[in-house]
Amino acid sequence: MASRLLFRRAVQAVTRVGAVRLAAPSRCMSAGGIPTDEEQATGLEKKVMAAIKKGTDPYSIEKPQQYAGTKEDPHIVPSITNKRIVGCICEEDNTAVIWFWLHEGEAQRCPSCGSHYKLVHHHLPH
Ligand SMILES: [Zn+2]
Repeated sequence: MASRLLFRRAVQAVTRVGAVRLAAPSRCMSAGGIPTDEEQATGLEKKVMAAIKKGTDPYSIEKPQQYAGTKEDPHIVPSITNKRIVGCICEEDNTAVIWFWLHEGEAQRCPSCGSHYKLVHHHLPH
């Protein structure tokens, strides 16, 4: 009889301890799933994700836009200064790159192929 009472108390104690151990934290997979990238992101990554959500691309992460390279639709070259060196691969199969300085102001032409390039001032987000 005493051994049965002792056994029941032991089972109750183990069950109670087990119940405490099974209390899962709210962020684990069994309690609601894996946290999303937005929930895990911190610092600069969080700022970039918020900016992309708003539709802006302050760090030029996305693929650059395509331009025709004509006078009306010049290649836009962002720069934080008033000039930037630009490399033009004039034709698709060329192995040589034509390098030239692009200055702020009017659109300039590549000295070899004549494509138009325009420097646009870029503000750093930080
Ligand atoms: Zn060129």
